[in-house]
Amino acid sequence: MKRAAIVLLAASLCLGAISAQPSTNPDVHGRYLINHDYRPSSSLTKTGWLSDYYPGLLGTPGDSKVYYFEGKTPGGTLFIGGGTHSNEIAGIMAAVTIIENLKVDTGRVIVVPNLNNSAVSHQDKEPSMPAYTSRGPSWIGLDTPSGRRFFKYGSRATNMAHQGVPDPVGGYVHPDSKEAPLPAWEFRNLNRAYPGRTDSGLTQKIAYSIMILLNQEKVDLAFDYHEADVGGRLANMMVANPKNIDIAAAAVLNVDLDYGLTLKLEPSNMEFRGLSHREWGAGSGAAAFLIETPNPAMAQDATDNADVVNDPTNPLGSRVATHLAGTKAVVDVFNETNPEKSIVFSGLPSYEQLLEKGVGPYLK
Ligand SMILES: [Zn+2]
Repeated sequence: MKRAAIVLLAASLCLGAISAQPSTNPDVHGRYLINHDYRPSSSLTKTGWLSDYYPGLLGTPGDSKVYYFEGKTPGGTLFIGGGTHSNEIAGIMAAVTIIENLKVDTGRVIVVPNLNNSAVSHQDKEPSMPAYTSRGPSWIGLDTPSGRRFFKYGSRATNMAHQGVPDPVGGYVHPDSKEAPLPAWEFRNLNRAYPGRTDSGLTQKIAYSIMILLNQEKVDLAFDYHEADVGGRLANMMVANPKNIDIAAAAVLNVDLDYGLTLKLEPSNMEFRGLSHREWGAGSGAAAFLIETPNPAMAQDATDNADVVNDPTNPLGSRVATHLAGTKAVVDVFNETNPEKSIVFSGLPSYEQLLEKGVGPYLK
């Protein structure tokens, strides 16, 4: 089957237009998709799609590109996911920074910068959603060595127009949950949908494809990059599945020692179903981690004008630096305890470089 044609975003960007809406030119299925402007490093070994793992995503706005980097020496496999929530831009840009700079020596690194690609297609202003989920710009612009580049800033949830199934009346209850119903829109929150299913909405199908990927690729370490309310409980936190909390604890100590960066640490709540770190860890062989950084647009008192790139207290560079430092610290601890499954890579900007110069200079 021929893959669905993808609408190029480049045309509008060449005109310098910053549109509030993505292109709505239909593809062959009458839906629209976004072709992100990501420029992988020369050590990229192949690209694929989430639909390679669950063909039911093929041609849907939930399909998303997968980037593979394989070292010359066999080792373990690291999975990086950004964009579970498309308004959490530092998670996406940390994944993009990896894609554009990574050199893998030992083992494999697999990156999906937009785990929920439907969520980049809108900015959800539904009144039922909390305000912190829907503030911020439509795009961010970064000055890079090749000129100004634009990256999509989207919503916390799957586009209702793509979900295929209405939000449940009376609220969303995860099929395996014994907890009270969540607000109905949470049905379209990828981070409430794992391990996913094929007989439900697009969000559930995306979650299903990611679980297949983790198992089929025998992922050893899996990261889900998020952002949270500035000053809230989650900001600057690493969440780890209980089975791998020891690795996370050692990593958190090391980032404090190495960078003076304080990351809080929490284990997954095993009763609260559907979250990546909980379900990835339980449903695959991967040690599962989630990192949260403070996004200025998600502060309780933020406005739509919050500067998510150059905020003086929490600039994008420092948030991306936190994601990369947390990841590297976990990989280092894993390598020490599992030398036969080492994952060795280089090429990424340092913590200090990102703090000093931001993300743009380290993109292509
Ligand atoms: Zn999130």
